[in-house]
Formats: sequence, C-alpha cells, structure tokens
Amino acid sequence: MKYYSLNNKAIKVSFQEAVIQGLAPDKGLYFPETINQLPQSFFEDIENFSNEEIAFKAIQQFVGDEIPTTELKRIIVETLSFDFPLVQVEENVYSLELFHGPTMAFKDVGARFMSRCLAYFNRDKDQKNIVLVATSGDTGGAVASGFLGVKGVEVVILYPSGKVSDIQERQLTTLGQNITALEVDGVFDDCQDMVKKAFLDADLKHKKLTSANSINIARWLPQMFYFFFAYKALKKYNKSLIVSCPSGNFGNICAGIMAKKLGLPLAHFVASTNANDTIPRFLENGIYNAKPSVATISNAMDVGNPSNFVRIQELYNHDLAQFEKDFSSYTYTDEETKWAMKNIHTNSSYVAEPHGAVGYLGLKKELEKQPNSIGFFLETAHPIKFLDVVEPVLNIKLKIPKQIESVLGKEKISFKIRSYEELKALLLK
Ligand SMILES: *Cc1c(COP(=O)(O)O)cnc(C)c1O
Repeated sequence: MKYYSLNNKAIKVSFQEAVIQGLAPDKGLYFPETINQLPQSFFEDIENFSNEEIAFKAIQQFVGDEIPTTELKRIIVETLSFDFPLVQVEENVYSLELFHGPTMAFKDVGARFMSRCLAYFNRDKDQKNIVLVATSGDTGGAVASGFLGVKGVEVVILYPSGKVSDIQERQLTTLGQNITALEVDGVFDDCQDMVKKAFLDADLKHKKLTSANSINIARWLPQMFYFFFAYKALKKYNKSLIVSCPSGNFGNICAGIMAKKLGLPLAHFVASTNANDTIPRFLENGIYNAKPSVATISNAMDVGNPSNFVRIQELYNHDLAQFEKDFSSYTYTDEETKWAMKNIHTNSSYVAEPHGAVGYLGLKKELEKQPNSIGFFLETAHPIKFLDVVEPVLNIKLKIPKQIESVLGKEKISFKIRSYEELKALLLK
C-alpha cells in the first residue's frame, strides 16, 4: 500500500516510511492511495468474528505485505488486550467505552499499535527512532505506556508544567526506561511549537524523529476498530445508526468515516465539540476559520485547528453536499456539558466524564432530527482522569482503578526546559 501527501499527490511512500516519517516532507498528512470496500458477507456475519479477526480484516489492506500476516495478527492481539463494552445509557442511546486500556484513555489502542509497528520495522537494525510528542494530558500517558520498552524507540514527551492533572503527570513521568518527560515552562501551544520546530530542524534530521499524534497513520487507522465493534453489538436492532464522537483533532471521527468507506453500515456522524467550534462554524457558513484554542473542562478537545479535517474532506472527495448529508457538528459550552453529566447520572446512574458528556449531547440532538435511529457516543476517557470535574459536578467520590493506583505511589522524574535550544541540546545528546 502506498500513501500520498495531502499537499502533493506525487509524493508517495510505503506504509513503513509513512509511519517512520509521521508527516510528509512537504508537511502534508499521509493518506492511503486506494481504499477497497470489504465484502458484504463480512458485515452480514460480523457477529461470528472475534474483535481480533475484525481488526485484522479492517487494517490488513493498509499495511499490505510490509508486515507478515502472523506478525500483524500478533500486533493486533497485543493491541486489543482489553474490553470495549457498549453500555446502554438510555433508550436508543449507548456509550462505547474506550477507556479500559492501561492508561484509561482511548488513545491506548493507537499508541500500542503504532509502537509495535515501529518495533517490527526496527527488528534487526541498530538504528533508533525518536518519538517526539507534545501533550495537553492524555496523549502523553498513552504514548508513554504504549511505547514503554519497545526496541529501537526513544520517547520524548513535552508537557506544560502545572497544566496537566496529577494523575496525567504521573502517567508521563514515572515509567523510566526509554521514556523521557520534559516539563515545559509554558502552555500546551509552546510544547507543540517546539515539537514542530524540531521536525523542521535540519540539524536533527539524522535523529529520525517521528510523531505519535493522530497525524501518524499507525495511530490514526487502528481507531477504525471501535466502530466495527459497536456495529457488531448494535446490528441486531436493525436500525439506522448514528455515531457521536467527542472531537478535538478529529482523528477518531475520521477513522469512523474510513470504516464507513470500507462498507460499515453507519448512517450518520456527529462531531461533538466543546467551545472550540471551528468545524461547527464551518458547517454553518462554509468558511474554515481556525482560531486559537480556548481552555475548557473537556481539555483533550481544546483544539482550534483540527489536523485530521483535511483527511475527512479527502474521504469525501471534497464533495461538500455529500459530506453534509452524512455529517453534523455541534458545539457545547462547559455549562451544558456539566448539565449533561448531571442529567445522565440522575436518570441512568451512569458516570460520564466531560468528553463523553459532550458526545452524548451531540447524539441526543441528532436523534431528535432522526428519531427512528439508534446511536452511540464514544466515552473516550475514564471519569477518574477528569476527577477534578467529575467529583464536584456529580457530588460523588470515585474509586481509583488499579491501572491508576499503580502509578500514584511512583516517583516523578522530569527535566525542566524553557526554550527550544534546550530541547534541541537534549535531542542531540
Ligand atoms: C484525544 C481525545 C479526544 C479527541 O479525539 P480526536 O481524535 O483528537 O478528535 C477526546 N477525548 C479524549 C479523552 C481524548 O483524550
């Protein structure tokens, strides 16, 4: 399988090169050259396949022959070593819980898959890749855990000092081995800017830097699996299906649209956002006007310029009319989000954290427009990861899950940096 750059279709690379580079040399996102629908019979029989078999069928064409079948199957088994329960919240409303992995955020799947692909590519080489990632909280923990101990990969995580939660910070800073945490005196955008600068820096070219954000195809594509798993559970109702994704960089929802392109019968997508409403505004007036991100209680979605939106446009061949038929996007304030959390808890005794609650709101709105459908929203993090919001809003005390307990007692190790020069010096060591 070849991948082209969305900035220039003449630039083509293999799966391996796309994973190792992250972003194309012209800064475009990579996109698969061909997308083949899966056979109808597969969807008709989907309940007879295990999650691992479904995942293999979904991703195989995107890897091609660059990873042998037995290896790819092993990677998938290791990636999916936890549950993805679909929980009924109300009549016709389900929550797909993506937080049962090691760091309790949905990014675990992409991080685990990508790290194992890189390990395979480095299997008999002495070279090292450096995975460089800026995090506002969740990505860093998932990447640290997913890449821990992986051969030939050094991980460098930049996070804004004092701006991530205690649990998130411990998930980044307590693992050791091949994981280095850099505590940046600044905000998330400063971390992001330093990472971007490093990717462009000719002096660092020989260091083989790659990214582990959803711009990387090996982090983005495995997210397709979730939508297959939900369909497998909901198919028996034989109703038109609406999916609502709490969206930040739009990687998750873009993977869902890819699943639809493979033939998965999903009728409608809702991108539910917080106050960072670039896409809802775009759908309203047709003008793409990115703004600097604003801080909200669903902070993993505080993105002003969602990087995967160009991939969604490509999936629709830039046909806005068709796109708008399949896709809605709604924005919610923190007040509305808290209201939803309380409402869900009161009516269903279900604890949703802020991202899931935003997803719930978008789903409810679309169900009003399409009342004969059923739908699910993605619950992208465990409530414990946002306990500073969840406990006071719901007036409850959360139990600490064992995944989190295991990091709480560990000692934090981080290096403080203030400037790009300090980052560069560390990377050159
Ligand atoms: C990353 C993240 C999101 C947003 O996902 P995108 O793929 O960037 O749209 C939503 N919720 C949580 C908890 C996240 O960590």
